[in-house]
Amino acid sequence: MDLHSLRGAFAGRLLTGAGETAAFLTDWRRKWTGRCIAVAQPDRTEDVAAVLRWCAEHRIPVVPQGGNTGLSGGSTPDASGQTLVLSLTRLNRVRAVDPVNNTIEAEAGVTLKQVQDAALEAGRLFPLSLAAEGTCTIGGNLATNAGGVQVLRYGNARELCLGLEVVTAEGEIWSGLRGLRKDNTGYDLRDLFIGSEGTLGVITAAVLKLFPRPAAQVAAFVAVPSPAEAVELLQLAQRRLASSLTAFELIGDPCIGLVEKHVASARRPLTDRSPWYVLLEVSDATGEEHAAATAEGLLEAALSQELATDAAISTSLAQFNALWALREDISESQGAEGSSIKHDISLPISRIAEFIAGTDAAIAQAFPSVRMVVFGHLGDGNLHYNVSPPVGRTGPEHAAEFVALEGPMNRLVHDAVVERGGSICAEHGLGVLRRDESARYKSEVELKLMRKLKAAFDPLNLMNPAKVLP
Ligand SMILES: Cc1cc2nc3c(=O)[nH]c(=O)nc-3n(C[C@H](O)[C@H](O)[C@H](O)COP(=O)(O)OP(=O)(O)OC[C@H]3O[C@@H](n4cnc5c(N)ncnc54)[C@H](O)[C@@H]3O)c2cc1C
Repeated sequence: MDLHSLRGAFAGRLLTGAGETAAFLTDWRRKWTGRCIAVAQPDRTEDVAAVLRWCAEHRIPVVPQGGNTGLSGGSTPDASGQTLVLSLTRLNRVRAVDPVNNTIEAEAGVTLKQVQDAALEAGRLFPLSLAAEGTCTIGGNLATNAGGVQVLRYGNARELCLGLEVVTAEGEIWSGLRGLRKDNTGYDLRDLFIGSEGTLGVITAAVLKLFPRPAAQVAAFVAVPSPAEAVELLQLAQRRLASSLTAFELIGDPCIGLVEKHVASARRPLTDRSPWYVLLEVSDATGEEHAAATAEGLLEAALSQELATDAAISTSLAQFNALWALREDISESQGAEGSSIKHDISLPISRIAEFIAGTDAAIAQAFPSVRMVVFGHLGDGNLHYNVSPPVGRTGPEHAAEFVALEGPMNRLVHDAVVERGGSICAEHGLGVLRRDESARYKSEVELKLMRKLKAAFDPLNLMNPAKVLP
């Protein structure tokens, strides 16, 4: 492929050497590695449009990429070497903050952390929060409809987005950068692009919702006997705290064991071990004392009702951050432990305890001695129902035998999820990881409508082909 015409078609960087492109070709988990004809890094929306027009003219497939932290292989090109990687990281300006309208307009390549910081500077909160926030981008967050730890109170990325600017597969610019909370003027294009994982068009900018900053925040690390008590504690907390409850995470004890093993600074906050813990967050509009009293009142009630056996509450920002670090470091620690099989699932909250008990038992029977690494956003019904190899079999020489379990284990877990009315892909996107599996559980009608949408938005099938839909 002659890339001279592409080089001349847009302003920005075009990377072609193997050394320059390597970082764009492998995903965060190092599970997928592909090849590409080049990596284009435009600086402006008009240049993204020019790149896409060139791709349409030359029938070159495009893989949009943000921070490349996605966990489903959506941002990695295939092995053909015929694809262009379109990196959005140089579209990195916060265009405007409107504190009265409580909105921020940011380009797709701005990292989530930069948006949070810009909101903070304006005295506001941008509540989307997840462990990859220093690297993942707003474009990637919206393209995957990311969730994170505060969905319980503020919703997924979709609920936080008011308007979008998108470049279509044909290279046209759609400016839908509306900062409106009400707008019923026909089909909602914004909602179609959100969660479409780069298969319908390229998000180049977004108008996002901001919120008042809480006056104080407290985290509590609570030992609970089992997921059933954790679910009861969630209801108690929602009754007592209402919207002050901003996060409610379930953590299995093996997760804390892995963090202790792989993160030198990690410390268990409670003296005695418990099979399960809840990490909850209280955000208070009044102040520190009120936040602490609210959390203490909740925990006293939980202890007296035997929903909890012990608890620690943060009394400083350092303690608040240390408690959250235990949760945020689980994914990296599981990665450091060798291969893993991950299931990002969601269920009606009423079915979660029984799902964990039943599926843990079925896995123990079918795959003896594998380790369950279960944690997640219990307040949203979303579990990371992950599995690590047996102790002593984590080395690369055992990787193949563990990977061979993935197919049958996925079937067992996903069937159990779907039987209970759940979803096999809660917040990480389908990418290639869950593309075929998801199609297996969808009806023909749903798949047909999805294919028609894809054909309408991307008639040449150039936008991230073979992702999301088989
Ligand atoms: C340690 C860790 C923790 C995580 N925790 C969470 C969590 O709690 N909740 C959660 O939801 N996710 C979580 N994730 C995964 C999450 O999906 C990503 O971190 C993030 O949303 C992806 O953003 P990105 O910029 O890295 O996108 P990428 O990985 O670059 O891309 C992801 C997908 O979006 C597409 N895409 C990217 N940018 C654009 C664009 N501008 N226009 C169109 N399509 C685009 C890509 O083609 C790809 O399909 C975690 C990841 C890691 C590594």
